[in-house]
Amino acid sequence: MKTIYTFGNGHAEGRADMKILLGGKGANLAEMNLIGVPVPPGFTITTEVCRLYNEKGREAVVEMIKDDVMKSVAHIENLTGNKFNDPSNPQLVSVRSGAPVSMPGMMDTVLNLGINDEVAETLAQKSGNPRFAWDSYRRFVQMYGDVVLGMKPTNKTDIDPFEAIIEELKEKKGVQFDTDLDVDDLKELVVRFKAAVKENTGKDFPTDAYDQLWGAIYAVFDSWNNERAILYRRMNQIPEDYGTAVNVQAMVYGNMGNNSATGVCFSRDAATGEDLFNGEYLINAQGEDVVAGVRTPQQIMTVGSRRWAEMQGISEEERVAKYPSLEESMPECAKQLVEIQQKLEDHYRDMQDMEFTIQDGKLWLLQTRNGKRTGAAMVKIAMDLLREGAIDEKTVIKRMEPGKLDELLHPVFDKSAVKNAKVMAKGLPASPGAATGQIVFFADDAEEWASRKKKVIMVRLETSPEDLRGMSVAQGILTARGGMTSHAAVVARGMGKCCVSGAGTIKVDYKARTVEMNGKTYNEGEWISINGSTGEVYDGQVATVDPDLGGDYAAVMALAEKYSKMDVYTNADSPRDAMKARELGAHGIGLCRTEHMFFEGDRIKAMREMIIAPDEESRRVALAKLLPLQRGDFEGIFKAMDGYEVTIRLLDPPLHEFVPHQLETMRELAEETGRKLEEVKLICDGLEEFNPMLGHRGCRLGNTYPEITEMQARAIIEAALNVKAAGVDVHPKIMVPLIGVKAEIKMQADIINATAQKVFAERGETVAYKVGTMIEIPRAALVADQIAEVVDFFSFGTNDLTQMTFGYSRDDAGKFLAIYKELGILKEDPFQVLDQEGVGQLVEMATRKGRAANPDLNVGICGEHGGEPKSVKFCNKLNLNYVSCSPYRVPIARLAAAQAAVEAE
Ligand code: PEP
Ligand code: MG
Repeated sequence: MKTIYTFGNGHAEGRADMKILLGGKGANLAEMNLIGVPVPPGFTITTEVCRLYNEKGREAVVEMIKDDVMKSVAHIENLTGNKFNDPSNPQLVSVRSGAPVSMPGMMDTVLNLGINDEVAETLAQKSGNPRFAWDSYRRFVQMYGDVVLGMKPTNKTDIDPFEAIIEELKEKKGVQFDTDLDVDDLKELVVRFKAAVKENTGKDFPTDAYDQLWGAIYAVFDSWNNERAILYRRMNQIPEDYGTAVNVQAMVYGNMGNNSATGVCFSRDAATGEDLFNGEYLINAQGEDVVAGVRTPQQIMTVGSRRWAEMQGISEEERVAKYPSLEESMPECAKQLVEIQQKLEDHYRDMQDMEFTIQDGKLWLLQTRNGKRTGAAMVKIAMDLLREGAIDEKTVIKRMEPGKLDELLHPVFDKSAVKNAKVMAKGLPASPGAATGQIVFFADDAEEWASRKKKVIMVRLETSPEDLRGMSVAQGILTARGGMTSHAAVVARGMGKCCVSGAGTIKVDYKARTVEMNGKTYNEGEWISINGSTGEVYDGQVATVDPDLGGDYAAVMALAEKYSKMDVYTNADSPRDAMKARELGAHGIGLCRTEHMFFEGDRIKAMREMIIAPDEESRRVALAKLLPLQRGDFEGIFKAMDGYEVTIRLLDPPLHEFVPHQLETMRELAEETGRKLEEVKLICDGLEEFNPMLGHRGCRLGNTYPEITEMQARAIIEAALNVKAAGVDVHPKIMVPLIGVKAEIKMQADIINATAQKVFAERGETVAYKVGTMIEIPRAALVADQIAEVVDFFSFGTNDLTQMTFGYSRDDAGKFLAIYKELGILKEDPFQVLDQEGVGQLVEMATRKGRAANPDLNVGICGEHGGEPKSVKFCNKLNLNYVSCSPYRVPIARLAAAQAAVEAE
């Protein structure tokens, strides 16, 4: 077994495509050598060794790789002419971890390894720069102590013991910066650092270079299994058995004097995607100084430097004098760096994120990788590379992270504004976008304030259908309770409205009209801002900017259209949402939840009258009032979806959700219907259920009160005939919710068909329609073959299917799901990401059985999972006909569907 791969001087045993074995860093270090980029020589211990280390333990592994490590160190020595562990001609190295996918939480970097008192003296003499030698030494002791010997504080508020010593010394000397410390100070730091190590670990600081090296190698391997790394892997589905590689590399020094520097750079702008090479550097510094924020890093390119100065309000004279670009301060190196970054980007055909060091005027590259980027940059860079001929269309699709499109669709916080904003609470990123507004607590206040042109954010413990009107006029919604499929979350996503749900730490007091966050009490009318893409809640007003949906975004979506096989529909309850979804590329409505229509205007009154009706006759009277309203709604939606299918679901929620809960409103209802208050109260109370989600809802309503189904079916068919007469190409689909037993759907289908025939006879004309069912009760999935005999289509209601398969209440699971995820009991919230292993089996089986019994069966999904990329890909694998999701997720689903198709090739 080959345990170590060496590289250096234009040769390498590894390659870029060996990331699994060499880790991302190691594979790219090898590749850079192969394409002639200057990289300090070194070697990579493979991830396979890490796996053996975890299996067989330290001793067995040391025995196995000891000789190879010695040989590989000699390889470095041969190329540099120096000697490791030799004080007369010392070679220092860096040691870094490098997993196949980049993974925060693991041991990062130890620089200057191999140094001790004698070596420091030699370095001081040879370089003629004692400051450099002792600065390198004190940095090494500090890094080694922190990351190898475990002295880095685990608590964010605890101070690093080494930093404490530095602060103490600076105070004693009356200086402000590390750079103000002289050589004697640095020597003193080394002594005190070592004493701190002894005190902390009970052992002397290792002086032998090999002892140091083995210590660092163990630390890298051990870090694979530290808590943070394990958690990160769980959260990001990184295989446990990948292991990390260890990269050992000859040191080059950016802190050797004013002809040395270190920096990071990007081949394009990671925020905007602009094709502009950019980055930051510091003269006479080592890696961590650039990010440490002690000194102000300077821009690499003069263009960038000027832009930066302008933003900082720094004059051109001051910029040139104090913060010159690398182009200005080291023109030769800058020129070479520009060439190298282009070479690397051309080679990898993607935007590169690079680290470099200049030692005494010579440029070295220390790392390159595909750079992280914003959603906007993701789209622009991929389309630019396509136009440049560097990548093809399918690669553009594969490069997209569908979820990141969100950032492009909604207003977002202005980047500089959000930097200065104070986070007061954090909840779930329930519906993306950014919103800023004044706090209101009640729906009627929201409406009233909005009518006075005020921007409001509705803050609630949780929302219910009664809050709909308030939600629709608010800029955003913040709730203390509820998960990703809570009422607030689902409705807000449907409206394309920003929402943060389940912000458990906020304390809402409806009576006092206050909300407490992070120790501050906000009154009604005070400003807050919420980010529905991250779940963050900010103090005060934060400026937002609007998205642009033309250009490259439109081009990427056209490619998605071209390559996807599965269709994308939308969940929409109003013509406005339907239009929006159509604009965003939806090819039909997969779910129109009719109940949302009952809350608008005065409709709720007729609805309540229907519910409290004592007998069928009076129920029919109330239903007759609802009929024209529903018909009007459907006509609007059919028109908006001209040419496309519209799936309308019959009434689903328990009736209790519609009746008044306050005495005041009950009194009104009593007056309107000519009943006694006690009687109304008794009926309303009687509708209350212990488990409403498992109670009298869905098709159980339509089967116990067939006249409700009759009215809805009539409204749909009449609306379809009306718009058809007006020239609209209408395709109605009638969908029955919550079926578990074949007889349930049979009975509903019979009512629907009989009603349709009746209307056709009355009108003397017909329209084609389909009847289908939601599959959202596990039993329905189990007997899908029986159910398929009676219907034209299935639509998986994976919200309820998840709820009932797991036995987790979709409204209450927020309380424990977060903890379950933290404990690793669940990898993901099953209400967000479809549980393919469990719930997915039901979806697969029901599709298979359903299609076997009815080969023409059309199958889709309309639960929240229909807009989640991984779940969409799963649906593509099962050959579903379509996924349906809220309007703003349509582009994400389209892209995920295209990706699934391209990846399946
Ligand atoms: C579902 O259960 O997945 C569904 C789409 O219906 P609702 O969310 O309205 O219960
Ligand atoms: Mg449902």
